[in-house]
Amino acid sequence: MTARIREFLRNRRDDGPCMVLDLDVVRDNYNAFARALPDTRVFYAVKANPAPEVLHLLAKLGSCFDCASVAEIEMALAAGATAERISFGNTIKKERDVARAHALGVRLFAVDCTAEVEKIARAAPGSKVFCRILCDGAGAEWPLSRKFGCVPEMATDVLEHAHRLGLEAYGVSFHVGSQQSNTGAWDQALASASAIFRECAERGIRLSMVNLGGGFPTKYLKPVPGVQSYGNAIFQALSKHFGNRLPETIIEPGRGMVGNAGVIEAEVVLVSKKAEADEVRWVYLDIGKFGGLAETMDESIRYPIRTDHDGDDKVPCVLAGPTCDSADVMYEKTPYWLPVSLEIGDKVLIEGTGAYTTTYSAVAFNGFPPLRSYVI
Ligand SMILES: *Cc1c(COP(=O)(O)O)cnc(C)c1O
Repeated sequence: MTARIREFLRNRRDDGPCMVLDLDVVRDNYNAFARALPDTRVFYAVKANPAPEVLHLLAKLGSCFDCASVAEIEMALAAGATAERISFGNTIKKERDVARAHALGVRLFAVDCTAEVEKIARAAPGSKVFCRILCDGAGAEWPLSRKFGCVPEMATDVLEHAHRLGLEAYGVSFHVGSQQSNTGAWDQALASASAIFRECAERGIRLSMVNLGGGFPTKYLKPVPGVQSYGNAIFQALSKHFGNRLPETIIEPGRGMVGNAGVIEAEVVLVSKKAEADEVRWVYLDIGKFGGLAETMDESIRYPIRTDHDGDDKVPCVLAGPTCDSADVMYEKTPYWLPVSLEIGDKVLIEGTGAYTTTYSAVAFNGFPPLRSYVI
């Protein structure tokens, strides 16, 4: 919570939940990444928060952009990024979208299988490709599972196929899982990456780049290591596995770039119990899983919640959203402790909500409008 956000909310007159994002915090985060990993290019993961003001600021600061669709590529271009600062980082692309990206000047693409390589060879000839490898996501609060990437043993064949089809086999990528609290998580993936570099070299293909992905955390309830600790751990792992022949590197922070820059202001709609004798209360807010807090799925991300009664005694609460869907319950297995004095109509502040909220918000479920966003 920054003084600027507090001031903005004090003067706010409109109704309904909103997310307020402070660009000064995004600037500080960008500079912290640049300092912690000085030889690494930053590709901001646009999906975390594609607000034009955020993209424009990052473009001005020199950031590159990791885009997952033609629409995101167009947003990055509109914000002032040139095409050579954009990667099409989704491993699952329609061939006509690859062609469209190529026509817009994009020359850097992610792949994780030979079928995708063939699309790129046809629709974006001569481009650079990097092959994504699987990562188990251990230590991450929002793991990215098995959907993206291939086993390291397969990556060499995928890259060789690209090379044969006239593409530039550029390197290897991975994502250690989002909200990764273990700074050592990059070590195993970098061991695999260096093995792929060696095997490709044996086949006469010289790779140049390792894409270290995202995973850098935002502080929610538990403390997390600072960016510099990640920078140090990554540099050590790079040196250990690549010796003095360090590859070019890029990172793709999303959450770590914008998460702590945003705060959601919401309102208590109802406080109730299911039986008079119940210990646990139900607190319903005017925002829930469908209004932007989708990452509370499986109670994965636990946001800090502030109220005007924080000094008072706290009681366990089930926290739920306003829609008529029983899945719209955020915290129940592990109840959330909120002040006993919290009442209908009170405002609450949900912190660390600058990433993955506005983009996850439904368009009009039950007629509720999408999460309003203010960038200041
Ligand atoms: C979502 C995504 C990111 C951003 O991940 P964070 O954990 O938010 O930093 C980076 N790279 C790729 C390919 C992604 O899909």
